[in-house]
Amino acid sequence: MSQSSVPFLPFVKPEIDEETIQGVVDVLRSGWITTGPQNQKFEAALSDYCGGRPVRTFNSGTATLEIGLRIAGVGAGDEVITTPASWVSTSNVIYEVGATPVFVDIDPATRNIDLDLLEKAITPRTKALIPVYLSGLPVDMDRLYEIARAHKLRVIEDAAQAFGATWRGERIGRLGDIVSFSFHANKNLTSIEGGALVLNNEEEAVLAQKYRLQGIVRTGFDGMDCELLGGKYNLTDVAARVGLGQLQHIERFTAQRKKLARAYFAGLEGGAAVKLGLGLPLADFENSNWHMFLVTLPLDRLSISRAEFMNHLKERGIGSGVHYPAIHLFSLYRARGFSEGMFPHAEHYGASTVTLPLFTQLSDSDVARVCQAVNEICEQYGK
Ligand SMILES: *Cc1c(COP(=O)(O)O)cnc(C)c1O
Repeated sequence: MSQSSVPFLPFVKPEIDEETIQGVVDVLRSGWITTGPQNQKFEAALSDYCGGRPVRTFNSGTATLEIGLRIAGVGAGDEVITTPASWVSTSNVIYEVGATPVFVDIDPATRNIDLDLLEKAITPRTKALIPVYLSGLPVDMDRLYEIARAHKLRVIEDAAQAFGATWRGERIGRLGDIVSFSFHANKNLTSIEGGALVLNNEEEAVLAQKYRLQGIVRTGFDGMDCELLGGKYNLTDVAARVGLGQLQHIERFTAQRKKLARAYFAGLEGGAAVKLGLGLPLADFENSNWHMFLVTLPLDRLSISRAEFMNHLKERGIGSGVHYPAIHLFSLYRARGFSEGMFPHAEHYGASTVTLPLFTQLSDSDVARVCQAVNEICEQYGK
């Protein structure tokens, strides 16, 4: 079965240009390799991208979410509403700051948090909301902020996957309350590892800086004070230089991803897999940045498991992934009272989703090859 003549397609692969690679070499030779001038440039460029709002870089998206919660004043006794269909860091950070995650099921069409259910889950203890823009598809931002305003709730947008996405033509990061981006290697814009917080004002930006580095404030030429319990979350200049190099290409990256997503629809719609019940993502070419192409397998109509399906793809030289198993079914969460059946749409999604290859250097014919493989496997093992 294995086709050695065709190259293996990973499900994701970053595109780093030669100028960026040379830029990293220059940083390494410059004598200043940790947080410094490249971070300042990166923060300024990100701020520009986000309509002039203050931006602070961090060494991960997880750190930005945690510090975003702290800046919003979330702590012990507070509830934070979020979705179980995300990377586990989205809700781990809620425990990290001493608060309690309150999960709300997803809308199966968007795979994002169901805003009707979200509104019903608000209690007097609710302090903040963490919506997740799964695969870069934003939630209905008008509705989200209508709810947040009506109930006086803070919002920390988990826009880890949404850099380059928009809402009604406006970039994610320009709108709303606190916005958290991740620049992990697999995200649409990468700094290898990293993240950024988009904030509301200078006061929050100063707080972000304190939380980012041990709560330290410089006083005068030779003095310093430690004002609060901060952590060690600063981004290196090597990483910032990579992020700066990526930022130049973000519009092209997003356009290419949209083009490839369209090729997926063309290759799958009306095919054997969809006829059997393969679930496609919402066909949104307005707002989404198409961070991933996530399908759901019709497991009740297949004689093979998801793992076997993924292995058949692998045998055909195609990588795939799972984003994500429902968070509330992980051991840590079960031990804290969550169980099967609580969020059926997220559970069904988490148990059946497969991430197909999607990255900027993929071609339409690569996508056609993936679609053909998906259709053939479904044809062969469909029942
Ligand atoms: C990647 C990701 C994070 C965490 O970002 P890191 O940079 O890996 O810490 C959080 N939430 C979502 C939805 C993500 O995709």
